[in-house]
Amino acid sequence: MFKTFLIKYGEIGIKGKNRHLFEDALVKQIRHGLKKAEGTFQVYKEQGRIYVDCEGPYDFEETVECLRRVFGIVGICPVMKTEDRGLEELGNEIIDFMENVYDIGNQTFKVVTRRARKSYPVESMEVSSYLGGRLQEAFPSLKVDVHDPEILIHVEIREKIYIYSKIIPGPGGMPVGTNGKAMLLLSGGIDSPVAGYRICKRGVKLDAVYFHAPPYTSERAKEKVVDLARIVAKYSGPIMLHVVNFTDIQLYIYDKCPHDELTIIMRRYMMKIAEYFARETNSLGLITGESIGQVASQTMQSLAATNEVCTMPVFRPLIGDDKQEIVDIAQKIGTYETSILPYEDCCTIFVAKHPVTKPNINAISRSEKKLEEKIDELMETAIHTVERIWVE
Ligand code: ATP
Ligand code: MG
Repeated sequence: MFKTFLIKYGEIGIKGKNRHLFEDALVKQIRHGLKKAEGTFQVYKEQGRIYVDCEGPYDFEETVECLRRVFGIVGICPVMKTEDRGLEELGNEIIDFMENVYDIGNQTFKVVTRRARKSYPVESMEVSSYLGGRLQEAFPSLKVDVHDPEILIHVEIREKIYIYSKIIPGPGGMPVGTNGKAMLLLSGGIDSPVAGYRICKRGVKLDAVYFHAPPYTSERAKEKVVDLARIVAKYSGPIMLHVVNFTDIQLYIYDKCPHDELTIIMRRYMMKIAEYFARETNSLGLITGESIGQVASQTMQSLAATNEVCTMPVFRPLIGDDKQEIVDIAQKIGTYETSILPYEDCCTIFVAKHPVTKPNINAISRSEKKLEEKIDELMETAIHTVERIWVE
């Protein structure tokens, strides 16, 4: 019975010209999101509203699931759309609607009408009271409650007439593409995919970079990261994943620097290379899955040492989250099962038994001096041999 969805979106802060940008981005993201659903869909704006028409057969659950991943959507209303064949016929249709959508018992209800087409001959209050009367007559067990009804039936009179009562919650946020782009440092862990999700929720488009260390890390570990990017892309839209061969840099650091500083120094080079690609592809910042105190490389001192080499803003949306809170989101968005697959990532192999937890930035810089001879050349090679994978 539902062939149309009315899309509700947040309107705070999107006045004037921004409103069009927001709506156009939302329409585009909805179209993209629905590519994953079976069926043909028309997505369009009409009088300040966004609708999705389902043409031909489609799967209701699957379609709703796709829409629930589109940031910017606050509510998804399955709508019964009918031709205007006069008020009496509309009464018959609303009775049909109630029968089909509800197990009718002694619920309370109310009809609200919005007359967007001003030429409609009957005023909205009158339409509501007529339709309420018809429902009461057809289902005597229902009771009208104008203040706090269990069932609120919306009737919107436009060129056609739209009837809906259920609002399925959407993910909120802003449509991807309305807030620039950022470069996600994506590892195979639990945190970084969640960090990417949290930032693209605010309308930021994502690119990603993954550092691997073949043959110390396997092809399968890389595939796992591609799989994670693919899951994140269901929310963010397509991601250009940069896969950087980090082996020689890691071996060089391992060879020249104190082992308890390895992780920090390595992370500083990751940030520098990530920043290079971010600039090259017009990203406005970096994103990591760091959270204060989670591991030695994420103490306040370690974060300061890592951050020191960055000139772009680094967004760390999980900074104040506990592991369990991050796991909960990972499960909700569907990355968790992939993240916990047991493939090594490049950090775990070169990790020291007792890494520094309070690195001193001066000491780290001194250690990095020992890399002077070859590090620029190794970075250049890492950058030039990057593999770019388009993930959607
Ligand atoms: P995650 O679960 O995201 O892997 P983690 O708890 O394992 O995080 P670290 O390994 O210290 O923590 O990494 C912190 C952050 O650095 C990650 O969230 C990610 O953003 C980035 N990072 C770490 N390793 C890599 C890598 N191999 N490639 C790209 N980014 C990485
Ligand atoms: Mg990790």
